Amino acid sequence: MSQVFKHYQYLHTIPELGFEEHKTSAYISEQLKKAGYQVTEHVNGTTGLVALYDSGKSGPTLALRADMDALGHIIDGKHCAMHTCGHDAHSSIALTTAQQVMQENIVKKGRIKFIFQPAEELGSGALAMIEGGAIDDVDIIMGLHLRPKEECPKGFATPAMYYSASTTIEVDFIGVPAHGARPHLGINALDAASLAIQSVNAIHLNPALCYSAKATRCLCDAGVTNSIPAKANVCWDLRAPTNQAMDELKAKVLQAIEFAARSIGASANAVVSKEIPAAEINDEVTEIIAQGIKDVLGDKGLIAPVYTPGGEDFFNYPRQKPTIKAGFWGLGVDLQPGLHHPNMHFDLDAMDIGVNISKACVQRVLG
Ligand SMILES: [Zn+2]
Ligand SMILES: [Zn+2]
Repeated sequence: MSQVFKHYQYLHTIPELGFEEHKTSAYISEQLKKAGYQVTEHVNGTTGLVALYDSGKSGPTLALRADMDALGHIIDGKHCAMHTCGHDAHSSIALTTAQQVMQENIVKKGRIKFIFQPAEELGSGALAMIEGGAIDDVDIIMGLHLRPKEECPKGFATPAMYYSASTTIEVDFIGVPAHGARPHLGINALDAASLAIQSVNAIHLNPALCYSAKATRCLCDAGVTNSIPAKANVCWDLRAPTNQAMDELKAKVLQAIEFAARSIGASANAVVSKEIPAAEINDEVTEIIAQGIKDVLGDKGLIAPVYTPGGEDFFNYPRQKPTIKAGFWGLGVDLQPGLHHPNMHFDLDAMDIGVNISKACVQRVLG
C-alpha cells in the first residue's frame, strides 16, 4: 500500500470541521516529527501546524501548504462533517511529500516548510496562520487542489488556478411593526429586503468581467401572518475575478442595499461577514510548477491555467504578504460528481501523481 494512500485512509475516516481538526493535526504532527522535521504545533492557538527542515545552506524558503478541514453537511436531517472538498487528500499528499523529501534527501539548499492550515472552508484558516507568523520567513508558497473531472481529468494538471474573489454580505433590514390591517402605520422590512434584492440584481460591472452578486438567503418571520414584519435578514454572495473588481462590486452592492431600504423609510445594517481575495499568482512560480508537472506527466499532461468563480483562502497568503511569490495548481483525479457534493469521489491512485509533482517542484527550487 502506498504511503499516501495509508495516510488518506486514516484521515478520511476522521473528518473534522474548521478549527476542530484536533485528531487530524495530531496525526500529521506525529508523522512529521518521525520524519525529522522541526514541528510547531497549535500555531496562533489553532490546530494549524508548521514543519520545517533547514538544509543549513543558503537559499530560499519554500512552503507547501495543505488544508485539513472537512465540510459540514446535513444528511438525512443529521449534521455531519465530511471530506467532500478533498482536503484529506491535500493533507495526505503534503504529508507524504514531506516524508519522501527527507527519505530521498531532495533538499540541497535553503529551507522547506510544510504548512498544514485549519479552516479553509471558513475562509479564516490562512489568516490565523499568517497572524501566527507561519509565512514570516517564506519566499515562495505553493498550494494545490483536486479538480473536478470535466475541468481536469486524471493524468492532467494545471499549473495555475485563477480563483475569484468572493465576499459574503449579511444585512439586517429594520422597519416598524404594525397590524396587517394598518400597513400605513408600519414599515415593512420584507418589502425593504425585496427591493434591495431587486436593486442588487440591477447592478452592472463591465460585462467582459466574470462576476455575480445574488441573494442567497432571506429570513423574515414576524411569527404571525397578519402583521407587518419589522425585521428581515438577507445574505448576498458576491464573486469577481480580481480584487479591484470586487471592491467596485462591493461598493455598488452596499449602496444599492442602503438606498433601497431608505426608499421606504427602513434602515439596513450591513456586515461583510466573509471575504476571500482573488488569486494573485506569480508567473515564475507557475513556470516552476509547469515544469514539475511535465517532469511527472510529460508535455501532454500539462493543461492551460484555469479560471474559476470559486474562492480559495490560500490567496490570503500573497494578499497579506505581497512580497511572497505564490503558485497554486490543480490536480486531475477524475473527481465526480463535483466538489462539496455529498457523494464526491475520485481516483485515489491519482494522489501519488500529486506527491510526485510536489516533489518535482521542491527539487526544482531547492534541489
Ligand atoms: Zn471547498
Ligand atoms: Zn477545498
